[in-house]
Amino acid sequence: MSNCPNCGLAYVPGTAVCVRCGAALPQAAQPPVPPVQTVQPPQYQPYQPSMPRAMLPPAQFAPPQFVRAQREFCWMDIFTVLGFVSSVVGYFFASVLLLPLGLIASIVGFRGDRNRGLAVAGIVISAVGVMIKVMLILSQAALLPDWFTNGIW
Ligand SMILES: [Zn+2]
Repeated sequence: MSNCPNCGLAYVPGTAVCVRCGAALPQAAQPPVPPVQTVQPPQYQPYQPSMPRAMLPPAQFAPPQFVRAQREFCWMDIFTVLGFVSSVVGYFFASVLLLPLGLIASIVGFRGDRNRGLAVAGIVISAVGVMIKVMLILSQAALLPDWFTNGIW
């Protein structure tokens, strides 16, 4: 039992205010709450280079050649895929238009450093297709003799 510091009335420990005078009662009589172990998270300092940025060599910041090279790579990939697809599709549709397109696009795509296998495939497929198409046109126009257009059998 403790007494109110204002009027001296005894109060039950844990009561917030005195029932007679309304004064705030000290809460020291409560059982002590075990202190919560507050683990301080490690303070992550933002990365600060030991040298100020002005002293770093300017070559470390965004070389513009890299962006240009990447854009050219994208164009070469587009040409390679376009050449391959059009050379394959040219066997079935619009061969007069698609096969030369596939040949040219594959050659352009071959100049890129990547996807050279696909570009070579497009070149070979479209070149063979162009030769077959030219021979078919010439044979249908009866410009080639039979021994030239016939196969082995
Ligand atoms: Zn009181």
